[in-house]
Amino acid sequence: MSDSFDVIVIGGGPAGYPAAIRAGQNKLTVACIDEWKNLDGAAAFGGTCLNAGCIPSKALLESTELYHRAHEEFAAHGIKAPDVTMDVAQMQKRKAGIVKTMTQGILALFKAAGVTPLQGHGKLLSGHRVEYTAHDGTRRELTAKNIILASGSAPIELRSAAFKSPQIVDSWGALEFPSVPKRLGVIGAGVIGLELGSVWRRLGSEVTVLEALPDFLAIADQQLAKEALRHFKKLGLDIRLGAKVTAANVAGDAVDVTYTDAKGEQKITVDRLVVAIGRRPYTKDLLGPGTGVELDERGFIKVDHECRTGAEGVWAVGDCVRGPMLAHKGKEEGVMVADLIAGHYGEVNYKTVPSVMYTAPEIAWVGLTEEQVKAQGKAYKAGVFPFMASGRARAMEQAQGFAKIIAAKDDDEILGVHIIGPMAGELIAEAVLAMEYSASSEDLQRTIHAHPTLSEALHEAALAVDKRAIDSINRY
Ligand code: FAD
Ligand code: AMP
Repeated sequence: MSDSFDVIVIGGGPAGYPAAIRAGQNKLTVACIDEWKNLDGAAAFGGTCLNAGCIPSKALLESTELYHRAHEEFAAHGIKAPDVTMDVAQMQKRKAGIVKTMTQGILALFKAAGVTPLQGHGKLLSGHRVEYTAHDGTRRELTAKNIILASGSAPIELRSAAFKSPQIVDSWGALEFPSVPKRLGVIGAGVIGLELGSVWRRLGSEVTVLEALPDFLAIADQQLAKEALRHFKKLGLDIRLGAKVTAANVAGDAVDVTYTDAKGEQKITVDRLVVAIGRRPYTKDLLGPGTGVELDERGFIKVDHECRTGAEGVWAVGDCVRGPMLAHKGKEEGVMVADLIAGHYGEVNYKTVPSVMYTAPEIAWVGLTEEQVKAQGKAYKAGVFPFMASGRARAMEQAQGFAKIIAAKDDDEILGVHIIGPMAGELIAEAVLAMEYSASSEDLQRTIHAHPTLSEALHEAALAVDKRAIDSINRY
């Protein structure tokens, strides 16, 4: 194997591996170095997302949602299945199988695109050099005209609740529980905490979610957040807001958790505690001396809007740089950089990165929230369509939530779309496309949507922006 490449990518997660594939498609010689090892010790490409994040969490959310619906909805359909039970081992086996297939698929994609896979640690040295240490300890120096850093992120540890025992775990640990914890504590009511809390609640755990902030889902449109909180409470999640965890002590097989809220110090005891208070950029042993790559005060690699670091020929993408920590954001950055390196056009539109929570109902949004539009002092109009009025949602026994569109008052451009309801994560794609093309609400109003589909909710919400909804009363 040559030691010299056009491009070396360090990190094979959803930011790094697409960068490598696109570089290969662009006829550049490329290697991708990744050090991930799974719990069984096996090396695997795919990073957090495929091994311990997006994919395994969605597998468990799907299994547990089906189980939950069997209990809660089958009767309404007339389906009698009184003995539905969950085999947690089989659920976990299915999840592991999906992860394995997907991560091995990356090797096939690499082969097709001519990417050299290198499993082990990569360290950027000065002068376009990379030190590669294979998992067996052998070390080589590689060179490349361009180097893309895609080292990702790691869970933030709470000093008072360190990951030192099997009782206190991070999100990966919470995806691997072999049985249903009777009492589960979750610190942090962010996307990851709520998804994992939902998984185990649906299987019967008594789940308490402790969130330091006083507002629920402060990053989301507050009309949507309010609706979401209602549904999470209905599911049985005990969400305590303004609850800042100050200590967690393992006592036997349980954990005593102390938190403070408006009333003072409080205590709960749980069997397992998931710390889901966010993630930090991961750059451990990534940068050798004199590389010229700088980190900001929070540890993110400093980059410009096209993901260039301060060092010539060195780029950084994904969770290790500013912006939302989302797989699709990292993917677009990786692809953009590989195209820019090849002299092609490349761009990421950070205004249209969608956010999705794969809970039930699903939650998805893109663009500005109503609160953000107001704060900008922009005149706007908004339309809401409740899924209660959707024939398809009714047929699915999923007539909960709504679609909301916010558009500028002057030129009608869509500023934000917020959906809580069935398949919100799929429906948001239409809104992203519309915003990518700077569509107006009238553009959506004049677009034919098949009947009866869930997508009609977006059509009707667009009509409601101008008080012209047909299938619901224009109340907003
Ligand atoms: P990572 O996926 O973290 O990949 C980085 C890779 O680089 C890793 O394999 C790491 O081992 C390797 N690496 C690091 N340093 C080195 C080095 N020096 N040498 C060699 N290799 C190195 N996002 C979504 O968009 N949708 C979701 O549904 C979603 N669900 C999630 C659920 C959970 C439970 C979690 C934890 C995260 C979820 N995310 C989701 C976030 C998503 O996983 C991340 O945004 C995404 O993985 C970031 O991709 P990345 O390539 O930047 O980093
Ligand atoms: P996210 O960053 O979206 O993953 O969400 C993490 C959540 O954890 C945020 O809403 C934080 O407010 C919350 N959080 C951080 N520290 C604590 C703490 N000590 N106790 C409770 N919640 C916390």
